[in-house]
Amino acid sequence: MSEFLPYGRQSVSDEDIAAVTEVLRGDWLTTGPAVTRFESDLAEHTGGVPAVAVTSGTAALHVAYAAAGVGNGDEVVTSPLTFVATAAAAALHGAKIVFADTEPDTGNLDPAAARAAVTKRTRVVAAVDYAGHPAELDALRDVADEAGALLLEDAAHSIGSTWRGKPVGTLADLTTFSFFATKNLTTAEGGAVVSPSARLLDRARAFRNHGLVRDRDSQRHPDEGGWHQEVHAFGLNYRLPDVLCALGSSQLRRLSAFKRRRAELHARYDAGLKDVADVLTPMRRAEADPMWHLYPLRVLGGRRKALYDHLRGQGIGVQVNYIPAYWHPVFADLGYRRGLCPNAETYYSQELSLPLFADLTDSDADRVIDAVRSFFGV
Ligand SMILES: *Cc1c(COP(=O)(O)O)cnc(C)c1O
Repeated sequence: MSEFLPYGRQSVSDEDIAAVTEVLRGDWLTTGPAVTRFESDLAEHTGGVPAVAVTSGTAALHVAYAAAGVGNGDEVVTSPLTFVATAAAAALHGAKIVFADTEPDTGNLDPAAARAAVTKRTRVVAAVDYAGHPAELDALRDVADEAGALLLEDAAHSIGSTWRGKPVGTLADLTTFSFFATKNLTTAEGGAVVSPSARLLDRARAFRNHGLVRDRDSQRHPDEGGWHQEVHAFGLNYRLPDVLCALGSSQLRRLSAFKRRRAELHARYDAGLKDVADVLTPMRRAEADPMWHLYPLRVLGGRRKALYDHLRGQGIGVQVNYIPAYWHPVFADLGYRRGLCPNAETYYSQELSLPLFADLTDSDADRVIDAVRSFFGV
């Protein structure tokens, strides 16, 4: 039998390894110069909009909601077709999560559904760039502005994507990235919050580091002594170490090559599967130039589970992204019911992510295509 093909996997080069070992031999393992360097390297990929590096994509969401001031009694409108962290990180601040339905074709938050879901209590509208394809960010910007809410973009899938020629990171009030091993670039675990607002960035930086205030001009008791630092609002320790930031800076140099390779593989799957009557290949809007994180095939006729089992049986590590977030028992226990977002539920029932990562070979992709075709007898 052939080797097991994962659905996603990191690409680590000799240069990446050299960058990490250089930091390990140096003075700073954490909170040193590699962090600031990674943050400024990141900004080169977000149209210059500044970044705050944190320990994961989940931490980035928790920090971003904190920066937005999300708390008890606030509402956050978001898509159910996402990893649960998009919602959980806001729920942990005491927010009520309001799920709005997705567009049937892209799987992204539907602006009309988001508009119907906002209330006076909406603090954040949180879109997700599903599979790497940016959400309808112009329309969602209007929805957020009209509601007096902030627009957050969970861009865990979409660093390197553009919408109407503008890079992800320039489009929302707060953009969050994940650098988990299977994402478009990796620091093993890691993430970042990006914002054009100096106020939101300050709040994000404070929450990342216990809310500590070191600037004497801002302290309540500046004359306490040279050692003094004080906390004005609670925070946590979400600091991404220099060791991992060095890996991130090195990976960023390869980001455009990753994007090209992912696009080639995506096109190869499209070409190999578009004539199969029982599947739908992914949709792309004219405004979007995605960094494809996933290849979300849709399987018609109720055969998704059978195809999943068939491909897994052949050592092909397909995945399903995602179970609607409110199907998780934690939301069910809060009274969220199935049927809430029919488009997202239909999308979930059909979705199967094929292996997609920069080091996947053409022959690996052809093996996946052949296995799908033979399942359908074509
Ligand atoms: C991966 C992911 C996250 C969480 O990122 P981690 O780095 O794994 O904590 C959040 N949202 C989405 C859409 C993701 O895919």
